[in-house]
Amino acid sequence: MGFTAVSGLLNGITCILMGAFVYFKNRSAEVNKSYSLLSLGLAVWSFSYFFWQISNDRQSAMFWVRLLTVGSILIPSFYLNFILSLLKLGDKRKKIFITAFLSSLIFIPFCFNNLLIRDLKPKLGFKFWPDAGTLYLPFLVFFFLCVIYSCYLIIKRFKKLSSVGQNQIKYVFIASVAGFLGGSTNYPLWYNIPIPPIGNFLVSIHVFILAYAIVKYRLMAINVVITRAGIFLAVYTVVLGLPFVLSTSGKNHLVNILGPNWWIGPLVLMAFLGTLGPFVYIYLRKKADAILLKEQLRYQDILKLAAVDMTRIRNLQKLLDFIARTITESVCIRHSAIYYFNPEAKRFEMKAGINPKKNQPAVIDLKNELVVWLEKNKLPLAYEEINDRSGNHPDFVILEKQMRLLNASLALPCILENKLLNIIILGDKLSGNTYTTDDLDNFLILAKETALATENAQLYGKIEEDIKQRTKDLIELQKQLIQAEKLATVGTLAGGVAHEINNPLTAILTNVQMLLRSGELDKESLEMIEEATKRCRTIVQKLMAYAKKPLAETAVFSKINLKTIINNTVAFLRYQLEQDNIKISIKAPAEAYLVEGNHNELEQVITNIILNAKDAIKQIKKSGIIDITLSQAEGWVKIEIEDEGTGIPENMINRIFDPFFTTKDVGKGLGLGLSICQSIIKKHKGKISLRSNINRGTVFTVTLPGLNNISIANILKDGGRDG
Ligand code: ADP
Repeated sequence: MGFTAVSGLLNGITCILMGAFVYFKNRSAEVNKSYSLLSLGLAVWSFSYFFWQISNDRQSAMFWVRLLTVGSILIPSFYLNFILSLLKLGDKRKKIFITAFLSSLIFIPFCFNNLLIRDLKPKLGFKFWPDAGTLYLPFLVFFFLCVIYSCYLIIKRFKKLSSVGQNQIKYVFIASVAGFLGGSTNYPLWYNIPIPPIGNFLVSIHVFILAYAIVKYRLMAINVVITRAGIFLAVYTVVLGLPFVLSTSGKNHLVNILGPNWWIGPLVLMAFLGTLGPFVYIYLRKKADAILLKEQLRYQDILKLAAVDMTRIRNLQKLLDFIARTITESVCIRHSAIYYFNPEAKRFEMKAGINPKKNQPAVIDLKNELVVWLEKNKLPLAYEEINDRSGNHPDFVILEKQMRLLNASLALPCILENKLLNIIILGDKLSGNTYTTDDLDNFLILAKETALATENAQLYGKIEEDIKQRTKDLIELQKQLIQAEKLATVGTLAGGVAHEINNPLTAILTNVQMLLRSGELDKESLEMIEEATKRCRTIVQKLMAYAKKPLAETAVFSKINLKTIINNTVAFLRYQLEQDNIKISIKAPAEAYLVEGNHNELEQVITNIILNAKDAIKQIKKSGIIDITLSQAEGWVKIEIEDEGTGIPENMINRIFDPFFTTKDVGKGLGLGLSICQSIIKKHKGKISLRSNINRGTVFTVTLPGLNNISIANILKDGGRDG
């Protein structure tokens, strides 16, 4: 089977496959239908070619040549039809096609006598090659008239097409030139001109490129494709050509140098050039791209940098603003808008935009056809493109309307894991240029990064919100714990308080009874009653102040003299401690130990440590002393509270600040006291620590930042509230 037979078979198969593929891709589109018809004509020609080339007897060769000629007669009008529908020439199209088609039919009967095919003869190694009949020349004239007229229509309409249409037609034009020139290499031999049909295989390429131009949604700029293909051909012509030249023209020379192994020369050269080839190709391609795609490469770089920055912005709003600004400014477009999917409202909401139009809709519904299309196709949609296609498909008519309502020259879907997260709407370019395929490819990458970055920002926002809520809950819980602990302490103090009140109450009662009995208003007795009543009031007030809900005062920090706090607390606990035979000694040589803090909270800390010390002493002794020492150094005030109690075992020291750690009996300790003390001291930016000896005692040390530079007089005024 010769080369021509193979090319015929190959062309035939390509035509059938491509024709069917394009037809089923969109059966309702005129372009697709007319393309399939053309492929059918070409397939008849190609298969006849194949069977003709493998025919062994003259009769069957003649049969296939006649059928081949029928195919050739159909091709020009089918081609014209295809170009007419591609150019959307409407009704005019039908008339031109029908005229061309009917004219071509005139030639068909002549396929079956000798007016088109005179005879079959051996030519240029082919067994049965036809001689052209009388009508063959008029047929060729008709053939090329159709083709030339098609080209004329293309050139005439070209300017009126959109850039997308123009790009498509450029592909068609180049494919047609290649196909027809290739096919034409069959004709010279009909007139005994000894040129073999070497261009046959170009028919397959022609069919293939046409299909690509129709079906492929978006075509690469053809000048880029041709430049790249040109560079490729040039590089590989050198790679294969130089060794070839060396092995033919330089053979004698090589034999002189290398002897019988002369062939190593060209082989080494080929290996060398073959290795170098790809690098040279890539280098030249980059250079060419830099010239052809200058503008794109410029903003492509900016967008790449922006993508890195994007991942760093955690605030969703800031991120969306940044994206809108970057695209608008780097690509130089009139306006932009970013619609963000709000899962709660189940719709897209405009969250950011640069120079948005006044009528820019604030929301896009989930059922909006554009949303559905973008989610399904995951591709950018250019207004010009749909406008171009709206004649073809009803879906595009709706899409065109939606895009118009959104002022969109381009709608960009930001998709993550098949979910449409954002829609970026872009207006026209300031330059008036349209969006190219490479623009869209770049935007698609940007859109993916946008989806990822916004998802991250949204998650981050959620986590932040969660943390805030939890912190709030914790603070609330802590307040409740402090309160619970206080109430527990109030319970312990109740006995002492009752006793303290009992004394003045007895005094009041005695004096009142005396007054009643004597019937006179004795001033001294009345004064005693007043005095005793005031004492009762003070005690009750203190208890109330201690047990008071911490809410109001917790946040209030003021300048405090720690000495006052200690004195107040000790006075308050004195009765309780006396009951247990425990004395307190306070060593505080200075007048003032100034800190910034909360009165109520610091009193709670001291109360808790003293009561723990008392419990510790009681466990091993009948009586004891608690020493409280105040001291201050540069920047710090220190309180040390020392007891003679049980001490704390080594293995427990680390645990006593844990919440709910207690060694006391049920009902006596909650195990919260020290944990609360620790958090209060931490809040005051201080430290609490201890050292302990078993059966000898424990020293708790509280250190707080001091306020030495404040005038003592002021502080005394401030701190002396309760005492
Ligand atoms: P509670 O007093 O309710 O048990 P705290 O958190 O105030 O809770 O104390 C926890 C534990 O620390 C106490 O149960 C006790 O075992 C130990 N502790 C605290 N202070 C002292 C001290 N001065 N001497 C010995 N043990 C102490």
